[in-house]
Amino acid sequence: MATMRPGAYLARRRAAAGFTTPEELARRMGVSTLAIRRASEFEFAQLGARLRLAETDRQPLAPNQIRLVARFVPFAPDIYEQLVVLDRAARHGWRFAHGNIEPQLCRVCACSWHDACVTDAGACAWAEADLCTACAPAEFDPLLVHLAASRAAQRGSVAA
Ligand SMILES: [Zn+2]
Ligand SMILES: [Zn+2]
Repeated sequence: MATMRPGAYLARRRAAAGFTTPEELARRMGVSTLAIRRASEFEFAQLGARLRLAETDRQPLAPNQIRLVARFVPFAPDIYEQLVVLDRAARHGWRFAHGNIEPQLCRVCACSWHDACVTDAGACAWAEADLCTACAPAEFDPLLVHLAASRAAQRGSVAA
């Protein structure tokens, strides 16, 4: 499976949080009651544009921006940073001594071991190595889902 680029990871997690566009997420941050300093419409428009740059892999988010976004979108900052490094490595042909280890992500919603989807049946599991049970077709046999999940666990595919 192809490595998910950091922008795609961000976009999928943003969508999973219910925001249709990066601008919509920025607007939500703007009306937040959390401890974020009041900012002008213009500043939040800039934030939307910045998020869009990151989602299209033109400029990855800086660490402080990653932490800010993580307060509104359920994503794992360490996974995002890992994908940024892998993306850079892929473009430059770098091979790391320990291997270019990829995090396990759902190809649809980009949930991971760190942030499972919350469904009526509880947390999601792995239906396939890169597909979670929340995103797998509804007709998917629950027993197979269970088996796939326990196989994934046995592989010791602990949070890379
Ligand atoms: Zn999923
Ligand atoms: Zn999931």
